[in-house]
Parts: sequence; C-alpha cells; structure tokens
Amino acid sequence: MVPAAEAEALILSLVHPLDGAEAVETVPLGAAAGRILAQPVTGSLDMPHWDNSAMDGYAVRYADVVQAGANHPVSLALTEIIPAGKPPTQPVAPGQAARILTGSMMPVGADTVVMQEVTQRQGDQVFILEAPQPGQFVRHRGSFYQAGQPLMSAGTALGGPELAVLAAAQCVQVPVFRRLRVAILSTGDELVNPETPLQPGQIVDSNQYALAALVQAAGAEAILLGIVPDQPEALAVAIRSALSRSDVILSSGGVSVGDFDYVDHILTDLGATLHIRAVAVRPGKPLTVATFPATATQPSPTLYFGLPGNPVSALVSFWRFVEPALRKRSGLRENWSPTFVEAVTQSSLKGGGPREIYLWGRLSPNPENPSRYDFTLAGGSHSSGNLVNLAGANALAVVPVGTEILPQGEVVRVMVVR
Ligand code: AMP
Ligand code: MG
Repeated sequence: MVPAAEAEALILSLVHPLDGAEAVETVPLGAAAGRILAQPVTGSLDMPHWDNSAMDGYAVRYADVVQAGANHPVSLALTEIIPAGKPPTQPVAPGQAARILTGSMMPVGADTVVMQEVTQRQGDQVFILEAPQPGQFVRHRGSFYQAGQPLMSAGTALGGPELAVLAAAQCVQVPVFRRLRVAILSTGDELVNPETPLQPGQIVDSNQYALAALVQAAGAEAILLGIVPDQPEALAVAIRSALSRSDVILSSGGVSVGDFDYVDHILTDLGATLHIRAVAVRPGKPLTVATFPATATQPSPTLYFGLPGNPVSALVSFWRFVEPALRKRSGLRENWSPTFVEAVTQSSLKGGGPREIYLWGRLSPNPENPSRYDFTLAGGSHSSGNLVNLAGANALAVVPVGTEILPQGEVVRVMVVR
C-alpha cells in the first residue's frame, strides 16, 4: 500500500505533459475558454495603447496649476472636449486645458489630469481649485505592458481574466493544446446500463456517468467504452481498443483480489508496466496505475488507472489521483494537486487503521467568522458502497493515519472537490 502523497508524486512523475506541434490546435478567442495555452503569447500593442486619462476631469500643463488652491484658483481656457474613442484635435498650450473623460487620449502639451471634483466650470473657462501631483491621473503608454515582452506563457489555463488579456492584445486565434482523450470503461458481469430493467443481483453502472462528468469538467474528452464483462478476452479487446484512441484509460472494477478481478493480469499481458496496485486510503485502497509504452502513433506512454468498482471509492480515487494526472498531462504548467484547506469539523470524524480516511461532506464558511471554514459530514452511511449521500458533497475531510477520532470542533484538513 503506497501512502497517498507518495502515490500522487509517483503518478505525476509518470505523466508526460502534452507538447510538440502535434498536440497544438488553433481556436478562435471566443472558443478558448477552459483550454490551455500551448505557446507563449507576445503582444504587439503597448498597454495602455497611448497616454490616457484615469479620471473624468481636465488635462492641463502641471506648470500652469502648481500654485492652484481653493483661495487662489487658477483659471484656464478650454480648448475642446475629448471623449473616449476620439483623438484630441489640438494641443494644450500654456494657460489652456482640455475637458477629458476616463480613457480618453491625452492631448499634446498636457501632462497632468485634474479631477473634475476639484474644479469649477464657467463657460469656456475652468477654475482649478487644488494643485495636483505632477503627472497625476495619466496612464502612460506601455506602463502596464510593452509590446514585444512576454505576455502569457504556455501552460496557462484560459479563464475569464486570461481571455480578457488576450482580447486586449487582439490575439484572436489562440494556440491551445488539443483536448486529452480519456477512455472510460466499466468492468463487471453484474453491471447494466441505467435504462435496463434490473434483474436480481444486477447493479447499475453509475461509475461511467460519474467519471465522464469529471473527465469533461477537467477539460478532457470522455470516450465511453461501456460495460465490459469479467472475461479476460473481452477485457483485453476493450483495453486494446482504448489504447488505440486515448491518452489516458480509466477502468473501474476488477482490481481487487476477487476471483473475477482480471485487470492487472490483462495489463501485464498487454505489455503495460504496473507501478501501483494499492494505496493507503479508505475508501479506494485497490488502485492500479500502469503505463503502456509510447508507440509510433502515440508518442507518449498511455496512462492506465484501474479504479476500484465501488462508486465512492472510484470517485475518491479520481479526485485524489486521476485529476492531478489529467491536469499535468493536459499541458497545464502548475497547480496539479488537489486543493486542501483547514476547516473546523462540525461532526466527529472516525479514523483508525493504517490508511488515510476520506469522509465526504460539505465545506462552507462559518456563519460567524467567514474567514474560517466549517466541514459538515454528509448524513447517512459512509460505506464505500453507498453513493446516495455523495450527491451535494463538495469536499472530503482527511483523517490522518494513526488518528482514531477527530472530535467535533477540531481542525481537519479538507480536500476541495468542487
Ligand atoms: P469490484 O471492484 O469489481 O470488486 O467492484 C466492487 C463493487 O463495486 C461491487 O459491488 C460492484 O458491483 C460495484 N461496481 C463495480 N463497478 C461499478 C460501476 N461501474 N458502477 C457501480 N458500481 C460498480
Ligand atoms: Mg467486479
């Protein structure tokens, strides 16, 4: 049994991030949300693009207004109004000012903006009632970013803020990594699809749906290979088929020590190297991690995760071990690991035994002290076979090895899963 942190590190060390030209595609800016930048972007525009005003007010020459005060206002002659989006039409000469609006281009000659609130307007004259700082409220061309400098590096996840930057830089065709292809298969003679009326002893294949949703939420393409019976030949066919069309393969079931648990054997027969067979976590102890060597058509090794069949175990394994691997494999430069926070448990949490224990529930801000988090255990059974109380869970509390009980009110480490 490999301890969780060690298993995560080992898995990440097996992962080759997407790179190279064959993994890059170009998408329009409007379709780039959720993708990962594949090449560094260098902008060709300074930001701001030109000197402009940070305030509604008057563009002045600092030397003209340095003596201004409430008792001895300085009077300046207005040249024009410069609205945002229109360039100034004339310079500001000594004794003059231009009415300027936020974002408008500074006129030639002016070097400072006096905010409207400390001025008084009388026809074509404006009185300045307070001396500004020199250069105040002017955003200088290139002061935020200079054309030709690196703007965004490869491996950046593209969300709202990043898309804003790319849009401002007029980067309309965005080089992104192709989506990872993740094959998902469920193993077990007892499994049926949700639309099939149940016969005694049968179980609905819920893992397929859960894993597909999580894979898609991770930005990858889920390739659903359906239910595979517990027969070595059928498993070999399914895994071979998965190998031919995916970067990562997830199976669930068939990795324990039962009479019909064939996955590890088949993997070895098909030429995979097994790196992990069990991890010291509960739920989710049986976990097979294997790699298939690179081939002519698949330039990086294919990662294989044999997840336990129990629905909760499969999800815990996905969140704890598969998701970091998908993040690294997809080309993301950093932040592969799950997010852990400290919270005060509102329920007593039972631990014990040689494994780290993951208990599902809800993380929420404490009503009296919003900078503190509370963890509330999901009600009902915490059997790894019970998935009913998993709905609505957004976090897993981790009871460390060697802790028998974490009483209510204690601080617990919590893994955020949504
Ligand atoms: P296994 O890991 O194959 O021994 O399966 C452990 C338990 O999980 C058994 O009770 C299975 O019926 C159940 N199980 C296996 N695969 C799935 C699945 N895809 N969806 C729901 N339950 C499953
Ligand atoms: Mg099984």
